Amino acid sequence: MSDTIDLLRRQVCDLHRELVRYGLVVWTAGNVSARVPGEDLLVIKPSGVDYDELTPENMILCDLHGNVVEGEHAPSSDTAAHAYVYRHRPDVGGVVHTHSTYASAWAARGEAVPCVLTAMADEFGAEIPIGPFALIGDDSIGRGIVETLDGHRSPAVLMKSHGVFTIGKDAKAAVKAAVMCEDVARTVHISRQLGEPLPIAQDDIDRLNYRYQNVYGQRPAAR
Ligand SMILES: [Zn+2]
Repeated sequence: MSDTIDLLRRQVCDLHRELVRYGLVVWTAGNVSARVPGEDLLVIKPSGVDYDELTPENMILCDLHGNVVEGEHAPSSDTAAHAYVYRHRPDVGGVVHTHSTYASAWAARGEAVPCVLTAMADEFGAEIPIGPFALIGDDSIGRGIVETLDGHRSPAVLMKSHGVFTIGKDAKAAVKAAVMCEDVARTVHISRQLGEPLPIAQDDIDRLNYRYQNVYGQRPAAR
């Protein structure tokens, strides 16, 4: 078990660098977490520590109610939201939160990003939905994420007036969704400047999403 936790500490630490590399975060905002498979535990970033100072050792191990099990710092202030998602979505192995610029601009207007690009149909299979306005401090953010994504194909939700939360089968998949969310939010925003983006027929969205999720990429047998 401690080997698994050590591996996740390293993965979660490394994935925070991806948030910086893709320009999704400033200062100490943003966070990545991973569920410890088979355990009621998660690994998450410490609160208020500079990205340059993150190490596998200072990642925080918490239970699924956000209580610290192992770690010298306080966990991210968004830990309760991550923990709520893990408690209510056993299929989720990773959660990411950012205030990335373009996605948050849509969130500030309370407007879902419409599915008008094939890349969106691939990754999100639908619009990127808007979740409720919710204040930090209790389960409202977590509940808003879970309720908005319930039955939705999108692994990303724009929490109104706040920012992005993404989920994935593991932390890397959730980071990928956060990167893709910002990319399509930016492109659709730019498209809007000169007119109204064209809708993609639902049938085509369904086919694109099925292909990308089930057929695209390297098959395990090809390794
Ligand atoms: Zn936030």
